[in-house]
Amino acid sequence: VRVPSRLDARFVLSNHVYDPRQAAGKSPEEITEIITREPAIGAVLAEIRSDGTLFADKPLTFEEFMSHFSREPSADMFVLFLSRDSESEKVERGGLDVLVAEDSTGVIRFLQLLVLYAVQFGAVGDYDIAGLRTFVAKYAPGVVFANRPLSDEDVLLLAAAADLGVPVCSYGNCVIPITSVKPIAQHEVIPTVKAMCLKGRFHHAFDAKPATGEAAPSDYLFEAGGTVNSFFIVRAMGGIDGVDVRGKPGKDMGIIIDLGDDEVDEAMTAYLEGVVEKIISARKDLSISTRHGFKIKWSSPTFSAQELGEYIHKGLKSQFSLKKVSVSVLFDPLRLAAIKGTILAYRDTRRKKLDGQNEANSSFYVCRRCQSYAKHHVCVVTSERPPSCGLTYEMVKTMAHLSASDDFVSVRRGELLDGRRGEYSGINKIVRVLTEGHIQRIFLHSLSQFPHPTSALLENIAFVIPEVDGIGIVSRGYKGVTPASAKFTDLEGRAAGRQVAGVVGVSDLYIKSPKFMHAEGGLARVVWMTSELKKRLDLESLRVATEKDCTTVAGLKRFYQATRNE
Ligand code: SF4
Repeated sequence: VRVPSRLDARFVLSNHVYDPRQAAGKSPEEITEIITREPAIGAVLAEIRSDGTLFADKPLTFEEFMSHFSREPSADMFVLFLSRDSESEKVERGGLDVLVAEDSTGVIRFLQLLVLYAVQFGAVGDYDIAGLRTFVAKYAPGVVFANRPLSDEDVLLLAAAADLGVPVCSYGNCVIPITSVKPIAQHEVIPTVKAMCLKGRFHHAFDAKPATGEAAPSDYLFEAGGTVNSFFIVRAMGGIDGVDVRGKPGKDMGIIIDLGDDEVDEAMTAYLEGVVEKIISARKDLSISTRHGFKIKWSSPTFSAQELGEYIHKGLKSQFSLKKVSVSVLFDPLRLAAIKGTILAYRDTRRKKLDGQNEANSSFYVCRRCQSYAKHHVCVVTSERPPSCGLTYEMVKTMAHLSASDDFVSVRRGELLDGRRGEYSGINKIVRVLTEGHIQRIFLHSLSQFPHPTSALLENIAFVIPEVDGIGIVSRGYKGVTPASAKFTDLEGRAAGRQVAGVVGVSDLYIKSPKFMHAEGGLARVVWMTSELKKRLDLESLRVATEKDCTTVAGLKRFYQATRNE
């Protein structure tokens, strides 16, 4: 058995479950004895294709592993069924990561995911089998349901899973000769998965709805809006809770939603307008567009303006803790024309207020939604530091004040310790508590010292290029190499779930923020970025190299030398 390199993907599992150096030079009989003594090693030998029991399918790439975490809602638990059946289909609809292993290679894949999960998000080190067992047992990232007859390899691998602390349940006529296996009745499968999800704080799994696959109707019976008098707005204003419809449906239409709760402010109303659009679009008989003026259509002959108002009212109240939601649906052209000016003025004032937000005059929040899988990750969200996943400050603020979710929390920043780097005493304290001491300090706007931790949900990655004393930014989707001699996935693997000096996940919004990596000199220090990102952020006038100019440090030096000589 050769000693694996950490970069050799085939040995990811073996590296972390068992140090294969112990098996070097052993006879097949001795290896069999080792497997019997420590079942997790069975998984190791299954993984070592060239030297061990040979039934591995193919190595799990880092990209394949990370793909499990970049969806919404993101997964935090792998549910393995040994055969597809009615129970596995029910769980699939819940939005969990459901794997089906019709043969033993699928079980290996599941074990690989668990091990990589513990390594990536639990900081379990090489050969630390005790740490691996503790992490898997504590955070319950996996559960197995055995529901078909088993091969010898299956038994070995399930023993390995149980040995790692994964609950293994069996139902149907599947009997596993392992003492820790829990036989359960078929109807207990879903409650078991639900209980496991709650343990892992994965609240969203069972809220996800299956796609109906039905297309939106193309023939709408009613259409309003799109005229100069039409508008749609959500305001932070008092009003009578309920729905009010004025006038008869015609071409002009206005919807005013006034939110009278004290917590609601302008920043939230900007986000809530998008929420109302989503509520309306969720019905297949309704359609809304706001891009080129507000327009709404519906296809049901029995649907009325009153029902539309009630649907919006109910939708907002069910998602947020709002007491006073006043929905007005207006069709009277004269009235609409008379109030259009005040609507535009409100929008204008709101835009100016949002543009004027900065860290000195707006509140701070933390989001720990990604802790459902990255146990020691937390995001600090400010108006000048939106998170790497692309959520907006306004959304995080709204969720913290108006939703029942405990993922989003308003926090006290404490004393400003360093304005250039963005260090606050209160933020350090709360981050220490929420990461169980894994992160002690955060410089919100620094790349190279105590940077903000990176989750698995990231639009781009900023990295230090020490040779040219500059910053590079690579966007998700770019497959090539960067001047850091690494691809996006390599950098993602280094930083996801951790605080890593010199490599940090950043969103498009943060790159455009005046505080972007302020400690290092901000956008002016960026020397390389992917061309797609440069275009997307409308930064094409900047003298910054892209992959079209160079992908190495030597190339970068040549690029800037030539630029200087121009
Ligand atoms: S990346 Fe940060 S802000 Fe985005 S969902 Fe995860 S924890 Fe929340």
